[in-house]
Amino acid sequence: MALSNGSPLLLLNHVASPNFRHKRASRFVVRADSDYYSILGVSRNASKSEIKSAYRKLARSYHPDVNKEPGAEQKFKEISNAYEVLSDDDKRSIYDKYGEAGLKGAGMGTGDFTNPFDLFESLFEGFGGMGGGMGRAARNRPVQGDDETYSLVLNFKEAVFGVEKEIEIRRLENCTTCEGSGAKPGTKPTTCRTCGGQGQVVTSARTPLGVFQQVSTCSTCEGTGESSTPCSTCGGDGRVRKSKRISLKVPAGVDSGSRLRVRSEGNAGRRGGPPGDLYVFIEVLSDPVLKRDGTNILYTCKVSYIDAILGTTVKVPTVDGTVDLKIPAGTQPGTTLVMAKKGVPFLGKANARGDQLVRVQVEIPKRLSSEEKKLIEELASLSKATTANRR
Ligand SMILES: [Zn+2]
Ligand SMILES: [Zn+2]
Repeated sequence: MALSNGSPLLLLNHVASPNFRHKRASRFVVRADSDYYSILGVSRNASKSEIKSAYRKLARSYHPDVNKEPGAEQKFKEISNAYEVLSDDDKRSIYDKYGEAGLKGAGMGTGDFTNPFDLFESLFEGFGGMGGGMGRAARNRPVQGDDETYSLVLNFKEAVFGVEKEIEIRRLENCTTCEGSGAKPGTKPTTCRTCGGQGQVVTSARTPLGVFQQVSTCSTCEGTGESSTPCSTCGGDGRVRKSKRISLKVPAGVDSGSRLRVRSEGNAGRRGGPPGDLYVFIEVLSDPVLKRDGTNILYTCKVSYIDAILGTTVKVPTVDGTVDLKIPAGTQPGTTLVMAKKGVPFLGKANARGDQLVRVQVEIPKRLSSEEKKLIEELASLSKATTANRR
């Protein structure tokens, strides 16, 4: 998928660092948000039943128990995510309007999907499921890597306008010594002695109601039925913790609490499973004068009572630099003046911006010089005379 800067659906992208060498480098492509409709191969005005049957058909052919092609599980996950959103009227309408970023705003993070296997099983219940096939294959099923998190602190303006940051993350990567297998190179796996290669152990429990037998996964071989001499680099896990620098493009308009997902930059999977995702949690430092209120920026300016009466122009700090603001003659204390489009860009829609709201605080002097006092008193008698004349 090509990267298009400023695309309204683009929540996040990343670029692999140039010296990055990894045997699965082809996985680390820059990806924009997925289009749920094209994932399911339906039109944007597809009915609910069309969506359901498209999901059923695709999920059946990409289920990792059936489809052993690399990437099938990832595809299966994408299909499930797309179905989960499009099958729900509320989520679908949010998605239609705002894309994945909108779902996030609606309290559904882009990572908050139902486990695709649970979704699949709930939908295929009563249809005879997949007809078995969950035996030994399931035990050796590739396992997706865990997600990884990173906390990123931004200054006020970086959050407003977006920024490109290079961050260093630590995460599990495939061990290069054993190429992820966990077995010492040159050794051959042998049959697990605990389970005799079955991958399962049967335990019996005697209860007043009789003897119950329980089948559970063999903990020695974790269900694989094989035991190997562990690789000395990774201790048999097949993965080692490593640092990696990645360049992160933070979109304009993020705020404290925003969460960005970088696909496939989490921990490596096991047995060839896909990597997890990286979640970047944003914290924004406050600015000494400008306060953020969603997409608006709040500022208070002080003017003298004379300037409020006669009108003036003041210099106001904004995120775009200092801007002249006209205070009209006769401005009342506490008035809020709107500086249109000087606020924060909308997340995912960099062309639309909030406003800067300037509250005018009128200062009344506590002490006057004798000359000022004389003039004010003259003003007071003039004001009384005017009022009297009006009567
Ligand atoms: Zn290893
Ligand atoms: Zn075993």
